[in-house]
Amino acid sequence: MNIHIDKSRKIPLYRQIAEQIQSQITSGEIPQGFRFPSERQLADALGVNRTTILNAYKELKADGLMDSHVGRGTIAVRPERSRPEKHPYSREPMWEYLFSDYMKHHDTFDVNKYLEIANQKDVISFAAGIASVDTIPAQAFEGIENELMASRERLLVSPVSGFYSLRKAISSFMQKRSCFCQPSEVMILSGSQQGIDLITRAFINPGDVVVIEEPSFFPAIQSFRLAGAKIMAVPMDGEGMDVGILEQLLSRYQPKLIYTMPVFHNPCGVSMSMDRRIRLLELAGQYGIPILEDDPYSELSYEARAMSPLKSMDQNGHVIYLSTFSKTISPGLRLGWMCASKKLISQLSGIRQLTDLHSSCISQQIVERFMNSGEMEHHLAFIRREYQERRDIMIEALNRYAPPGLSWNRPEGGYYLWCRLPEGVTASELTAKAAAGGVAVLPGVPACLSPQKGEGHIRLNYTYPPKDRIADGIGILCSLIRQLSSAHRDEEALTAEINPIL
Ligand code: PMP
Repeated sequence: MNIHIDKSRKIPLYRQIAEQIQSQITSGEIPQGFRFPSERQLADALGVNRTTILNAYKELKADGLMDSHVGRGTIAVRPERSRPEKHPYSREPMWEYLFSDYMKHHDTFDVNKYLEIANQKDVISFAAGIASVDTIPAQAFEGIENELMASRERLLVSPVSGFYSLRKAISSFMQKRSCFCQPSEVMILSGSQQGIDLITRAFINPGDVVVIEEPSFFPAIQSFRLAGAKIMAVPMDGEGMDVGILEQLLSRYQPKLIYTMPVFHNPCGVSMSMDRRIRLLELAGQYGIPILEDDPYSELSYEARAMSPLKSMDQNGHVIYLSTFSKTISPGLRLGWMCASKKLISQLSGIRQLTDLHSSCISQQIVERFMNSGEMEHHLAFIRREYQERRDIMIEALNRYAPPGLSWNRPEGGYYLWCRLPEGVTASELTAKAAAGGVAVLPGVPACLSPQKGEGHIRLNYTYPPKDRIADGIGILCSLIRQLSSAHRDEEALTAEINPIL
């Protein structure tokens, strides 16, 4: 069944729907006995009123093309004389009403749109959170084909949790982050995003409460939302999440999960203070709630040594830890990892094998070889210098071009600046105008539960754009913000003139 409605036509919507169903029944495209969606389902799928569908169905019933049976729902009846004129089922199914409830929770924020913009040649992209092409370590890839061919069996298949030798290399790497975990406590993932999805599917039932920081990493919010979670946000300040508010939420709602990015948060760049970490762990222990720690950025500290992950302070195994090679080697490898108890890793492997079975054998070998080569530390030192320089170029450009009312943070590490827009400038309008002007930015909207907060912010990534284009991009952006801000002020002045009493 395939229905298109055209609200600009003079024909009433219920007639448009009834006519299309009628022609599809008589042509055989909708077969005899086809079970129609309920009035509510079809109304939702077409975005019309339920009475519109009620009237369409009434008309079809009166024409003898539809029948309702208790227990069987509403079905198609094909008149004897009509014969299919063309091959049945030749049109595409109407996906919207076939989708599961899971799919219906999906919101419409489309990350691909931003990745596509980032890939356009002429666009200066501050939108995507990806590494620079200039920092992909050539030495990680050079000569790899010979090694791959020398151990071909490792090209065929990997254990679900990853090659043991890579898990071992990661467990040593974790020691440098002051986290002590055995290889059996490590699962190799196809990006840390997969870890968020796995944990969501393993723990979250529809209606369960998940606590996040606000703002937060928007694909994590989407993941929790897809699972039907009730998401509650804890505000952040310069020391991370407000643990006082967290405690109130824990005591009142008994959440299933706390999701946090304690080091160089995406998008705020903030790291959680030691006091807050201690309190967060105490609270998780007291209420028996697991913490999902997402840590892609702790290697990227530009000022001093970054704080160790929360996992390093976790005495009781409350913290499930995620990290990735996307931010340090290349996101295209799709390789990340999880650290958790051996038992949990083995249980999660059971459901992970139903999605992608295991991470790419080639990516695993590239990373393992690179980690064992001793080059990783040099490379990390190199990207720290590179990204620090890019951060400084961006901040300098903002200092030069920013209009009044625009403010931003100075992150000590990570990938992003989080900018507060001047009064009256909305992130959605700015994002659209900036894209037309050749600059891509990410609006704060998908990262926040409160639309007001989201509309008041944008996230700027400084690692991806070429160094020599950052200042130009910021110049264009700031001049657009200035224009929008002054248009807003003019509007306010006009309103005040028209309504002097207000
Ligand atoms: N978590 C956070 C906080 C991130 O910023 C990102 C990447 N933008 C991810 C997870 C996903 O990373 P990966 O490429 O490893 O899936």
